[in-house]
Amino acid sequence: MPYTHDVAVVGAGPAGLAAAVESAEAGLAVALIDGAGQPGGQYWRHYDESHARPGDHRGHHGWPAFTRLRDRLDALTAAGRIHYLPGHQVWLITRDDPGVFTLRVTRSFDGSAGRAAAEVIGGTGTGPNREVAARALILCPGGYDRQLPVPGWDLPGVMAAGGAQALLKGHRTLAGKRAVVAGTGPFLLPVATGLARAGASLAAVVEANGTLGWLRDPLGTVAVPGKGVEALQYAALMARHRIPYRRRTVIREILGENRVEAVRIARVDREGRRAGPDREIAADLVALGWGFTPSLELPLMLGVDTRKDTDGSLVVVVDDLQRSSVDGVYVAGEATGVGGAALAVAEGRLSALALSASLRRPATAAVAGRLQRAIRRGRRFAAAMHRAYPVPGAWTEWLSESTLVCRCEEVSYGDLLHACHDLGAEDPRTLKMLARPGMGWCQGRICGFASAEIASCLSRRETTPEDLRSLSTRSLAFPVTLGELAALTDDTGRPRLNPASEATTERG
Ligand SMILES: Cc1cc2nc3c(=O)[nH]c(=O)nc-3n(C[C@H](O)[C@H](O)[C@H](O)COP(=O)(O)OP(=O)(O)OC[C@H]3O[C@@H](n4cnc5c(N)ncnc54)[C@H](O)[C@@H]3O)c2cc1C
Repeated sequence: MPYTHDVAVVGAGPAGLAAAVESAEAGLAVALIDGAGQPGGQYWRHYDESHARPGDHRGHHGWPAFTRLRDRLDALTAAGRIHYLPGHQVWLITRDDPGVFTLRVTRSFDGSAGRAAAEVIGGTGTGPNREVAARALILCPGGYDRQLPVPGWDLPGVMAAGGAQALLKGHRTLAGKRAVVAGTGPFLLPVATGLARAGASLAAVVEANGTLGWLRDPLGTVAVPGKGVEALQYAALMARHRIPYRRRTVIREILGENRVEAVRIARVDREGRRAGPDREIAADLVALGWGFTPSLELPLMLGVDTRKDTDGSLVVVVDDLQRSSVDGVYVAGEATGVGGAALAVAEGRLSALALSASLRRPATAAVAGRLQRAIRRGRRFAAAMHRAYPVPGAWTEWLSESTLVCRCEEVSYGDLLHACHDLGAEDPRTLKMLARPGMGWCQGRICGFASAEIASCLSRRETTPEDLRSLSTRSLAFPVTLGELAALTDDTGRPRLNPASEATTERG
C-alpha cells in the first residue's frame, strides 16, 4: 500500500504552490502533483530554468512572489516534507477506503520531467502508473482558454491566445510575425504586449466589448487597486508598441488558402450584432481568447456541488474556508471561479490553513481572516471584470452553416442546427449524442462551452449548470494507455478497488 499523506495537492500553479508550502509548513505530510515539468502553472509559466538566460523573466508579473514560493517548495522538498511529482497527471481519484483518497497518476507528455520525479519521490521508475494516497485533497487544477468558433478558425495559424503566450513564455517561440489578438477581456493585453516585445508586429487587438462596462460595477472595479496599476502598465506598453486597440469589434471571418492570411473584422453593438462595414487586416497569426474555462474533471469525479459563475463558467461551490460539498475535499484557484493569480494564491493558502486547523495543527486565525478579506475583494473584482467583458449574446450569428464547431469530430454549425431543428435535440447532452460535438480527442474541452450555448440558444433558453456539467464530466481526467486501465482490474477482470502499487511514494 502507498504511504498515506495528510494531503495531496493537485496542481503547482499559484493556488497549488501556495497550498502545498503552507500545508507542509503547518506540519502536514504533503504530496504535490503537477502535470507541468516546472512549478508556476499558467501565470508563472516560464522557460526551462536549466537553460534560462539573464533577463528571461523581465516583465513577468509577480515574479518575486513566485520565486519566494518556489524557494520554499525546494526547501520543503529537500527536507522530505513535500513529495513533489512534476510532470505527472492525476487521471483518476477514488475514495476506496472511507478515510483515504487514492490518486492514480501517470507521466505527462514531458518525459524528462517524469524521470526527474521518479528520483524525487524515490520510486522504482519501472512504470508510468503510480498511486498516491491521502486523507484530504486540495484540488487546484486551474483552467484553459475558452474558445468560440468563427468561420476559418480551423486554419493553421489560428491559436488560443493562451497557447500563443505559452509558446512564448515556455519555449521562447513566436507563433507568427504579424498577429491579431481577438476575443474579450484583459487577458488579451498581456498576450499582445508579450508578442510585441518578442518582436512580432501587432496588427490589432480586437476587443468585442467596450471599456465602459467597468462602470456597471464601480465598487467591484476598485476592490483591488493593484489591478488598476496593472491596467495602466499594459496601456503604456500598448502605446509604446503602437498596437491598435479596436473596441466593440469582432473577427467575422478568418481568411486564407492553406493557412491564415487575413481577418475580416466589423464593429458590433453590445449584443455582438454587426454595426459597421467589414474591413480586412493582413495577419499570419490569430490568437483568440474569450476568457477561461475552469478544469473540473477531478472535482466532478468526486461529486462536488457546482454553480454557474458570472462569466457563464461552471465552477465548484466552496464555503469561506475553501471546503467543497464533499468531506475532505478543498478546492482553490480558477476551479472556484476565474479571478487571477493573486486570488488563487490567497485561496490556496486559506485552504491549507483551514485543513491544518481541522487537524488541530497550529493555524493563525488572524492570517485566515486577512486571507478571507482578500478573497472577498478578489471575488468582487472578478465579478466586475466578468460583467465588463461578457461573451456577446448574439455570437452565434457570426457562424455560417459550414463553420466547424467541433474541430476534432468535424461537426459543423449546420450539423448542430439539423440535430436541434430536425431531430429534436434541446440540450447539449442530446446534441452530443445526435451530432457528436465533444466526442473527439479533446473531449469537448475546446467546443464544450460553445456547444452548450448553441443548444440553449436554439432552444431559446439560458444555459444551465446542468448543461455545462454534462459537457464537463469526464470518466478520466486525461487519456491513459489500455495497460494503465487494465491495472485497475484484478485477474478476473473485476475493478480492483485497492490495487497494490509497485511504485509508491513510501516515505523514509
Ligand atoms: C493559457 C493560460 C494563460 C494565462 N496567462 C495569464 C496571464 O498572462 N496573466 C494573468 O493574469 N492570468 C493568466 N491566466 C489566468 C491564470 O491561469 C490564473 O490567474 C492563475 O494562473 C490561476 O492559478 P491556478 O493555480 O488556479 O491555476 P493554473 O495556473 O492554471 O495551474 C494549474 C496547474 O494544475 C495542473 N493540473 C491541472 N490538472 C491536473 C491534473 N489532473 N493532474 C496534475 N496536474 C494538473 C496544471 O498543469 C497547472 O500547472 C492564464 C490562464 C491560462 C489558461
